[in-house]
Amino acid sequence: MISKLILANLPTKIEKLERLSKEWDVNLYVKRDDQTGSEFSGNKIRKLEYVLKEALERGCDTVITCGGIQSNHCRATVAAATKLGMNAVALLRINEEPKVEGNYFLDKLFGADIRFCTPQEYREIRSEIMKKIAQEYSLKGHKAYIIPEGASFGIGTLGYYSCLTEIAAQEKEMGISFDTVIVAVGSGGTYAGLYLANKFFRLNKRVIGMAVCDNQNYFRDVIVDISREALPYIGEKIDVLREEIEINDKYVGIGYALSRPEELAFITEIARKEALILDPVYTGKAMYGLYNEIKASNISRSSNILFIHTGGLFGLFPKQEQFEF
Ligand SMILES: *Cc1c(COP(=O)(O)O)cnc(C)c1O
Repeated sequence: MISKLILANLPTKIEKLERLSKEWDVNLYVKRDDQTGSEFSGNKIRKLEYVLKEALERGCDTVITCGGIQSNHCRATVAAATKLGMNAVALLRINEEPKVEGNYFLDKLFGADIRFCTPQEYREIRSEIMKKIAQEYSLKGHKAYIIPEGASFGIGTLGYYSCLTEIAAQEKEMGISFDTVIVAVGSGGTYAGLYLANKFFRLNKRVIGMAVCDNQNYFRDVIVDISREALPYIGEKIDVLREEIEINDKYVGIGYALSRPEELAFITEIARKEALILDPVYTGKAMYGLYNEIKASNISRSSNILFIHTGGLFGLFPKQEQFEF
């Protein structure tokens, strides 16, 4: 496999959630990928370690990427590019004039070149817009590298491919085997990496992706594509099978980055029981889904469950007024 930059604090720790384990009658552990860094916090930095290595090797001095206004991916990319002395451009999707808060505030703090587009432009022509920005930079003598949404493309997939090998090493150290791994799914690259490593190393884990938007059909297609794109980078032959990709789309709720009161109440409950901070866009929905699936006996009691905390802390603050205490 190809090499990477060292940006994240790795390995991240795995800890048991004692009170929730007792209450839910499972052994629930959490992989603290919310602690990969402060400026870099969350899952995207694992992908960026590979992606930005490729960008530098290609002689690029500018990175262009895209996401929602509160994108954790854009914030991590802007921070990492800045750290590496590169220019960072973030194309952000907005409905209205955004408040300067959360991840968007940090994008500005790091001095990113911020561009806006409408949801429709984002859906239909974001690649074209990013290519235009790359041309604009090229005219000024720069060389830009475009990272697609969430860094969910071939090389970005290596981040969670190697994360699962990190987890396997920790299992040996801890003398435990996780039978089920739970992760939030937003653009699919995190799941794709876990899926490929699980299969290649025959770890036989049940990897469940909790969708925070779209549905199972959509994500199976996306994850098959990303996984196949990743194979040349991994350098192994792995059969990618659509039906092996387990996506649970029952907990999307009212849509991407929109919260229902019960989801926010659940985040509050987890904070009060375990001092674990979940975010409203990804990990809050994913763990709310896990809780409900355990209750419905769709995940067996007494199993060893590993919840990957993929970060998102800065996305919590723009929602603080929606919480009722
Ligand atoms: C991006 C993100 C995810 C989802 O990862 P994908 O690879 O996009 O599916 C999950 N949690 C957080 C906090 C994220 O920022």
